[in-house]
Amino acid sequence: MTTALSPSWEHAVVTGGAGFVGSHLCAALLDAGAAVTCVDDFSTGRPENISPLLERPGFTLVQADVTEELPVKQRPDLVLHFASPASPADYLRLPLHTLETGSLGTRNALDLAHSADARFVLASTSEVYGDPLQHPQDERYWGNVNPVGPRSVYSEAKRFGEALTTAYAETHGTDTCVVRLFNTYGPGMRGEDGRVVPAFVRQALAGEPLTVTGDGRQTRSLCYVDDTVRGVLAAAAHDMRGPVNIGSPTEISMLDLARLIVELTGSSSEIRPVARPVDDPAVRCPDITLARDKLGWEPQVRAEEGLRRAIAWFREDAMAAMAD
Ligand code: NAD
Ligand code: UDP
Repeated sequence: MTTALSPSWEHAVVTGGAGFVGSHLCAALLDAGAAVTCVDDFSTGRPENISPLLERPGFTLVQADVTEELPVKQRPDLVLHFASPASPADYLRLPLHTLETGSLGTRNALDLAHSADARFVLASTSEVYGDPLQHPQDERYWGNVNPVGPRSVYSEAKRFGEALTTAYAETHGTDTCVVRLFNTYGPGMRGEDGRVVPAFVRQALAGEPLTVTGDGRQTRSLCYVDDTVRGVLAAAAHDMRGPVNIGSPTEISMLDLARLIVELTGSSSEIRPVARPVDDPAVRCPDITLARDKLGWEPQVRAEEGLRRAIAWFREDAMAAMAD
């Protein structure tokens, strides 16, 4: 199944464009012929993610904090609001920044889209489902979220962002869409960002123990970044308001993921149980019926293939860092 990317965007603004997912979005939009303005404060992004894009015609970098302003000069016809810490380690380290980016930052991005009459896409997250009591999760599920737990700075900011986006559509008629991304991995993640794929791959390549939290029976559904980007752009090209789940329906336990990464890297690392984070969800798996039916989208890259590609990239990135 393939999804066509609308060729009609002239100028897209990508907040968080120097981050992991955002930089792939910028590249895909440039490939599709759009001019792209990336707005990023580099709080969790990597300059290396956009250094190849700086040479490309039509790409502009604006270093700014979206909670303060979005100093975009050219009028956009698409605003993709992806700025936000996303790794639990990052948002636990930056709790107020995360809340402000999800609230004030989302409002500023919505104002830009509204004043330009542009389509607006909010990067929401499976985290809005919390520790879900419904499995797999479809978009009608309201979630099971602890509003005062450590993860709430992220989950509640995203839930507020969804509410604000809905209110702009209802009140101002802004053309909005909410995409709920599930765990995505691939090239461009920081090796030290704490998320499970970079953590396990880095550990396996270094011959260090793989730190599996708890008994490792908790599950996630891992989507390769190229598939996620295709899904986001399909939703942007559609007129749907969402929310729509974009993620892989293939679920894996963290213990099995650790074993698979040890095998694929050819590592001799052992697996070491460590403490489970507070409120760590026990399961996570999207029902992607809506994306399949409305967008003709589903992931194409199988876990083994995606992990092989990610491992090759992390290996090269580690070697480049050693050479510097
Ligand atoms: P990331 O941390 O790699 O990228 C986020 C980017 O936003 C970074 O470049 C960071 O510098 C920038 N940023 C953060 N706060 C900002 C601010 N106030 N002003 C300007 N720039 C700011 O994270 P990611 O994995 O690429 O996630 C991107 C988006 O997708 C986030 O909104 C996240 O919530 C969402 N998402 C990601 C996943 C995933 O698995 N990667 C899953 C669900 C949702
Ligand atoms: N995890 C792990 N070892 C690590 C990092 C994470 O076992 O070194 C676990 C984590 O506790 C969670 C799962 O892997 O159960 C996914 O964690 P991640 O931080 O990647 O994403 P999220 O919790 O936001 O889904």
